[in-house]
Amino acid sequence: MKKLFALLLFCCLKLTAQESPSDTTFVNIRDYSSDFVLDMKYATEDNFLKSAVYDCPECYLRLKTVRSLLKANRKFLKMGYKIKLFDCYRPLSVQRKMWKIVSNPEYVADPAKGSIHNRGGAVDITLVDQNGIELDMGTPFDFFGREAAHDYQDLSDAVLKNRKKLKKVMLKCGFKAFASEWWHYNLGGSSGDPLSDFTWDCP
Ligand SMILES: [Zn+2]
Repeated sequence: MKKLFALLLFCCLKLTAQESPSDTTFVNIRDYSSDFVLDMKYATEDNFLKSAVYDCPECYLRLKTVRSLLKANRKFLKMGYKIKLFDCYRPLSVQRKMWKIVSNPEYVADPAKGSIHNRGGAVDITLVDQNGIELDMGTPFDFFGREAAHDYQDLSDAVLKNRKKLKKVMLKCGFKAFASEWWHYNLGGSSGDPLSDFTWDCP
C-alpha cells in the first residue's frame, strides 16, 4: 500500500513538473488567453518585406512575456480595449530570411546580433476598441520614419493620447518602450535571454 502511494505521488509530481513550464519556456499565447487579437503581419505579404516569412500565423513568446502581456491586457480590457499583436517571438532563421530581403540595419536587426524578438521577449502591438477598430497611433505598424518615434510630438492630441495610453500600461506591466517605434515593447530583463531558433509546427 505504501509502495502504491509512493508511486502515485511520484507520478503526480512528475505530471505537475511536466505541466508547469518554466518562466523562459516558449509557449503559444492562444493556450493562455483568447482575449488578444492576432494579426501576424509576417505570415502574410502585408508587410514591408512584401513577403510571408512565417509558415503560419502563431504568436509564441517566453512564458514570462505572456504573463506580463496577460496582466497588461486585463488592464486594457477594463478600459474597453484589447491588445492586437503584429509580431511576437521570431526564430533566428526567420531573422536571416528577413535580412536577406532587406539588409539594412535601420529596418531589420542584423541576425549576427539578433533582436529581442529572437529572444522571445519583444512584441509589436497596438490597441483595438470594442468593435475591433485599431486606435489611431499616427502611423501604421512598421512605418520607418521619425513620425513613429515616441518623442515625435507633431501629432494630433488624440494620437498622442492613444500612444500614451498604450505606453503607460505596458510600462506598469514590466515592459520597456523602444524610442523609434511606438508599437515595439521589450519585456524588462529579456535582453539577457539567449537568442533562439526554436520553430513551431504548422497545421
Ligand atoms: Zn518589434
